[in-house]
Amino acid sequence: TIRAHYRGRFASLPTGNLHFGSLFTAVASYADARAHGGLWLLRIEDLDRTRAVPGAAAHLIHTLQAFGFIWDEPIIFQRDRTVVYQSALAQLTAQGLTYPCSCSRSNIAQQAQFGIDGAIYPGICRHGFRAGAQPRTIRLRTTAPAVRFIDRIQGQRTQHIEKEVGDFVLRRADGIHAYQLAVVVDDAAQGITHIVRGADLLISTPRQLLLQQFLGLAQPNYAHLPLIVDADGRKLSKSLTAAPVDPAYPLPILHHIWQLLNQEPLPITTSVTAFWQQAIRHWQCARISPYSTLHID
Ligand code: GLU
Repeated sequence: TIRAHYRGRFASLPTGNLHFGSLFTAVASYADARAHGGLWLLRIEDLDRTRAVPGAAAHLIHTLQAFGFIWDEPIIFQRDRTVVYQSALAQLTAQGLTYPCSCSRSNIAQQAQFGIDGAIYPGICRHGFRAGAQPRTIRLRTTAPAVRFIDRIQGQRTQHIEKEVGDFVLRRADGIHAYQLAVVVDDAAQGITHIVRGADLLISTPRQLLLQQFLGLAQPNYAHLPLIVDADGRKLSKSLTAAPVDPAYPLPILHHIWQLLNQEPLPITTSVTAFWQQAIRHWQCARISPYSTLHID
């Protein structure tokens, strides 16, 4: 029987074809979940309806099936969950932890310093905005103490959110809830205990830990995988050479990813089912390189 002490997940934007970097993340999170006898869930991050590509979610689901992934519970679609995000936001607002902000991007850019994740919001609207100004976004009132966590792959991390990121957006000017809020609400709703994802999100994790703390939610355990970059050091998802993975030939791609994850080589298998049986038996998270980038050519 499957135990629920480990509930993992893969969260994916449905904006197009699954690229190699996303599949890499999916493979690691799946192997880690199954090797722990855990559950693995799927979430489609289709919050932003204006960017939705018709048929993209169905294509993503088909591709994941072709690579042998099996999810244990119904897929969560973020577009269905506005009411839940709204109520989390209301909970933060009731604690005095949010404020409306009238600043536009360009007016922030003129006054802000650049930090680890773009402009550090300089707190212009923190104590109320100019009379007559229109609220655009809703921000979280961040706090000074450092957020610390131990990542299973990257080790101990510390971030001073207020100084390094600033008060961040929870609801965007177009009314869409921000990724940071949605991911925390959904990880809790799906009872996620272990998150395995790309190191590009390491800078976001402290914001998510802070929101979990403010919302009284359990904190999952995090493991951030090295990012796959091409020979020029560009993130693979942004590189011109990044071709979508071909669901017609899953095995060579799975073996390639396995090798990039620095796992013990597996015997050549003739089906994705056989691949996963071997992979789950041999998975060792501790073999993954703690460096934050991996080059492939
Ligand atoms: N779809 C997100 C990304 O690829 C992942 C979000 C998450 O795992 O929290 O950046």
